[in-house]
Amino acid sequence: MSVESQPQRETHAFQAEINQLLSLVINSLYSHKEIFLRELVSNASDALDKLRFRTITETELLGNEPELELRITPNAALGTLTIEDTGIGMTHDELVKNLGTIAHSGSREFIQTMAQKGQKDMQLIGQFGVGFYSAYLVADRVEVVSRAAGADQRAWRWTSEAHGTFTVEPAERTSRGTAITLHLKEDQKEFLEEWRLRTLITQYSDYVGHPIKLQVAKTTGTGDDKKTEVSLEVVNKASALWQRSKSDITDEQYTEFYKHLTHDFDAPLAWTHFKTDGQQQFTGLMFVPKHPPYDLNAQQQRGVRLFVKRVFIMDRCEELVPQWLRFVRGVIDSDDLPLNVSREMLQDSAVVRAIRKHVIKKSLEMLEKLAKDKPEDYRTFWQSFGTVLKEGLATETEHREKLGVLLRYESSREEGLTSLTDYVSRMKEGQEAIYYVYGESRKAVADSPHLEALKQRGYEVLFMTDPVDEWAAQGLRDFQEKPLVSALNADLKLQSTDEQKREKEQQSEGFKALTDKMKDVLSDTVREVRVSDRLTESPVCLVLPEGGSPAYLEKLLRERGKGMPHMKRILEVNPKHPVIEHLRAVYTSDPTATQVGEWIELLHDQALLTEGSPLSDPNRFAKRMTALLTQVAAHTAPAQPRAS
Ligand code: ADP
Ligand code: MG
Repeated sequence: MSVESQPQRETHAFQAEINQLLSLVINSLYSHKEIFLRELVSNASDALDKLRFRTITETELLGNEPELELRITPNAALGTLTIEDTGIGMTHDELVKNLGTIAHSGSREFIQTMAQKGQKDMQLIGQFGVGFYSAYLVADRVEVVSRAAGADQRAWRWTSEAHGTFTVEPAERTSRGTAITLHLKEDQKEFLEEWRLRTLITQYSDYVGHPIKLQVAKTTGTGDDKKTEVSLEVVNKASALWQRSKSDITDEQYTEFYKHLTHDFDAPLAWTHFKTDGQQQFTGLMFVPKHPPYDLNAQQQRGVRLFVKRVFIMDRCEELVPQWLRFVRGVIDSDDLPLNVSREMLQDSAVVRAIRKHVIKKSLEMLEKLAKDKPEDYRTFWQSFGTVLKEGLATETEHREKLGVLLRYESSREEGLTSLTDYVSRMKEGQEAIYYVYGESRKAVADSPHLEALKQRGYEVLFMTDPVDEWAAQGLRDFQEKPLVSALNADLKLQSTDEQKREKEQQSEGFKALTDKMKDVLSDTVREVRVSDRLTESPVCLVLPEGGSPAYLEKLLRERGKGMPHMKRILEVNPKHPVIEHLRAVYTSDPTATQVGEWIELLHDQALLTEGSPLSDPNRFAKRMTALLTQVAAHTAPAQPRAS
C-alpha cells in the first residue's frame, strides 16, 4: 500500500471548556438521559432546514439524493444507534470547528448554570448551543460521518471517546448528509428498543417538519420459516403544527411544540395562534415562556423563527419583534415574502412592518388575557419579563395605553403587586394623580419623607424600584387620564383649600428670613429653599425641580460610567417641626450665631441621606453630629436606675 492511500487520521484536542463540559455530561447521574435524542434530532432537522433553504437558489445541491429526511437505526448486534440525515452535511473543517470548539460562550455558561442549579438542568443543554455533547449521556464513543452538500465528494469521520481528543479521517458516504453513530454504554441499551424510540420521537419530535424514519424489524412465520424483515417507517407527523387548525391541536401538542422550538423544559405560560387573511397572508404561533433564558439580557437576542411558505428561512428574526418583546418565542410563516428573502430586504419591507405590527398586537392581547384569566401565572410572567416589557414604554410610546394595563407595582397599601387599574379604583376623593416614588428598594422608599403628606391624606403610593421604572413612568405619562406624579417632584399636584393656601403663604412669610439664610448657606448645592406642605414628621427633604432626575437614577448612571449633569434640588422645610421652629428662634434672636450654619448643613446632609445620595463630606457630617450630641449630653441628666 502506498503512503498516499493510507487514511490520514488527524488527532485534535478539544477546547478546555468542552473537556469540562464533557466530563460533566459523562459523569452525570441525570435521570432523563433520553434528551440526547431530542438534541440530535433537532440538529439533523436544522441541517435539513439549511439544505432546503439553500436549494431555493442552488437546486443542484439535491443531487442524487432528493429526499430530505431523518433515519434512525438501532443495531442490537453492535449496540449502536445511528441518527442520520440527508441535510447540509459538514466539511472537514466544519467538523473540526463545530464539534470541537465553541463559537460563543455556551459551554462555559452551561457549566456555571449546572454548578448553581445541579443536574436537574441537564435539560438546558440545548439552550446553550452545546446540545450535540448530550450524546455522551448515553454513549461512550460517538462517530460522525458527514459529507457536505455540493461539489466536494469527500466524506469525513469524526470520532471521539471524549477523553480530551477527537480524530478526523477520510470516510465513505454515497451522498450528502450526516450519520451520527452512538456506541451505547452498557446500561443504556434501552435506546435500541423500538417502542422506546417510537415513544420518544412522538413525544419530543412529532413537529419536526421532516419525516423521521425509524428502522423497524418485523418477524413473520415460525420455526424454519421464521423471517425477519427490516423496513423504514415514518413515525412522526412531519407537518407544520402552525398550519393545522386550532381545533385539531391539543394543549399538550402546543406545549411539546414549544419545547421542541426552544429547548425549554418548562411548559409555556401562554400562547397565541393566528392566521390573517387581510392584505398580508401569514400564520403565527407565539409563546410566552415561564422563565427567562440565560441570555435574555446578555445577548439582547430576540425574534421568532421565520418561515416563508413552510420553508424555514431564519432563526430569531429580529425584524419581526421589537426589543421589548424579546421574550416572545415562536414561528411566523409568511405567504407574501419571497423565498430568497435576505436580512437586508427584511429591514425595508412593508410586509415585514405589517407582520411586526400584528405580532405586537397579538402579543399584548395574549398578555392581557393571561393577566385576566390567570393572575397567578401573570405574576410569574411579570417577575420574569416585566422589566423587559416596561422598556416598551420608554421606546415605543404608541402602545402605552395597552402597556399601562399590563403594569404591576408594589405599593404603600400592602406587600404584593397592584395594577394601575386597581390603583385608580382605590383613589381617594379629591386625589388627582397617581403617585409613585422611585428608589432602590421597597425598604429604601417606604419611609421616605416625601410620602408623608400623601400618606396623611390616605393616598396610595406606587413603589418603583426597577432601574427602568423612571423612564417607563415618563413614557406612560398618564393612565385613565390621571397623570403619574413622582412623590419626589417639586409639584405634587395636591389640591388645597383657600384656607390652606392662606396658611402656607403666612408660613412662607414667617420663615422667609430663615429660608433666605439657608439658601445662602447652601447656595452651592440647592437652587431654592422653601416652606413645605408635604412634610409631617421630618424636618426637611429635597425635591426635584421640573426635569430633574431622582438620586437613584443619577447613582445608576454614575455606576454605569454615564455622567449626567446634576440639577440642583429644592430644599423643603417643615415649618411645624420643632427643630425648624427652634432654628428660626435662634436665628431671629442672634443672626450671627455660629451653630445656625452648622445646623443648616446638618439638616441638608440628612435630606441627602434620606434620598439615598452620598454626602459630599462624611467626616464633617460626623463631626457636626458629634458636636450636637455633646451639647445635648451636657444638657441631659442620665436617667436614674429604678429601684425595684
Ligand atoms: P447548536 O445546535 O445549538 O448549534 P449543537 O452542539 O447541538 O449546538 O451543535 C453544534 C453544531 O454542530 C451545529 O451548530 C451545527 O453546525 C453542527 N451540527 C451538529 N449536528 C449536525 C448535523 N446533523 N448536520 C450538520 N451540522 C451539524
Ligand atoms: Mg443543537
